[in-house]
Amino acid sequence: MTKRHANYVGGSWPEPADWIENRSPSDESDLIGLYAQASPADLDAALDAAVKAQRVWANTGLEKRYAVLMAIGQELDQRAQELGTLLSREEGKPLAEGIGEVRRSGQFFTYFAAEVLRQLGECADSVRDGIEIDIRREPLGVVAVISPWNFPMATASWKIAPALAFGNAVVWKPANLTPASAWALTEIVSRQDIPKGLFNLVMGSGAIVGQKLIEDPRVNGITFTGSLAVGKQVAEAAARNLCKLQLEMGSKNPLVVMDDADIDLAASLAANGAFGGSGQKCTASSRIIVDSRVYEGFVDRFIRATKAIRVGHALDPETQMGPVVSKSQLSENLGYMQLAHSEGAEVAYGGEAMKRSPAGYYMSPGVLLNTRNDMRVNREEMFAPIACVLKADGYEHALEIANDSQFGLTAGIVTRSLARASHFRRNSRSGCVMINLPTAGTDYHVPFGGRGASSYGPREQGRYAAEFYTIVKTSYMHAGRPE
Ligand code: NAD
Repeated sequence: MTKRHANYVGGSWPEPADWIENRSPSDESDLIGLYAQASPADLDAALDAAVKAQRVWANTGLEKRYAVLMAIGQELDQRAQELGTLLSREEGKPLAEGIGEVRRSGQFFTYFAAEVLRQLGECADSVRDGIEIDIRREPLGVVAVISPWNFPMATASWKIAPALAFGNAVVWKPANLTPASAWALTEIVSRQDIPKGLFNLVMGSGAIVGQKLIEDPRVNGITFTGSLAVGKQVAEAAARNLCKLQLEMGSKNPLVVMDDADIDLAASLAANGAFGGSGQKCTASSRIIVDSRVYEGFVDRFIRATKAIRVGHALDPETQMGPVVSKSQLSENLGYMQLAHSEGAEVAYGGEAMKRSPAGYYMSPGVLLNTRNDMRVNREEMFAPIACVLKADGYEHALEIANDSQFGLTAGIVTRSLARASHFRRNSRSGCVMINLPTAGTDYHVPFGGRGASSYGPREQGRYAAEFYTIVKTSYMHAGRPE
């Protein structure tokens, strides 16, 4: 019988009324399991329990909190092969990337375990005589975590780990396309010695469970990663309750290839950045901006590198690019290929549905040439293995195109010129800059986030995470004179 997975609410696993099937995008016939859909009563119970548990957790000693986070991180690391297989099976990324994501998720917990012990405040003398000031951070309270399917464990971990480290309770609404990774992480958290209700999993649709969660006044902070359209809805709901907010959304990341670049390196960075994870990364290189002096040579190598990518089942060790996540994502992607054609782009390679046995949601990586930056394929996030190549007349022009986007998450340049690299680092309108590196691929101990429509609110990760998950309290003390 297919295994059923319940939500985790107030420290128990309530029997649900409703379930969804979770199937592998690599093989439609592969049923991974049935996953509960939270009812309004489940959500209500989760929030009530979270409010109570948070008060206990905020007063729990630092070493205890450290031990809990460390244990979660270590278990994720030890079980990376098993859980990475599950993650790849449900999301479709190649196995090595699935295992890497679980390891990375563990690193978020071990990193923030250590941050538990590094919470130091500040003190100051008052401008008034005899008064001292103490400035320290306190937990925010109940944090709603809303995560996407493309990094089903890592995005959630970089939110849950700091939330718990800084003394908050969590109500987590993962994406309905990838509940297995969420459930597996929840099962690990459920075995820790934490107050009942401190951590809750409410699986379900965004429009129903997600919307109710973001509207609830018991939520003190919402941390969201997902699309721009939904991010705006979250912002509206948060504004109505004056709720603290952090949004990480889409992008349209440029990779600039200069005439002085190592062209072989540039082609391999572009292919890696555009097609890694089937292009379903917020940091994917979706606009490849190439200096006209090396355009032909680059395009030749880039198409060769793209053709060499082996597309297949996520769990096949030979696979370099898995399927896309769902049937509707595949048809949206193919729709973008048609749009590109009608906008006047040249389809140089791929972008077509691929038949595989067993059947899944496969497509070949697509390369579009002769694209202009005002085309919709260069303005909208496609979240697809489709790269648009643009021609630029020199460095200034390339920088101008790179910055001409509503988004601004990551931006890369391939150059041997220190002057250009340094100028690009300073003048790129993005949150993260990559020099001679793919636009995707970031560390876990430093801030992550973007500009414009890519991000809103405080940065995530590293020491900067404290800004969102805590509130600053300033206390004045007049002790008087000793007797
Ligand atoms: P999505 O916006 O469709 O959904 C994200 C989450 O929000 C899901 O859990 C979904 O169920 C929930 N949701 C949907 N409607 C909601 C509502 N009305 N109220 C509350 N929650 C709601 O995004 P997705 O398709 O899951 O993920 C892909 C998107 O995520 C892409 O745009 C990608 O760029 C973005 N992303 C960004 C980052 C980043 O750090 N900037 C990282 C990964 C993914």
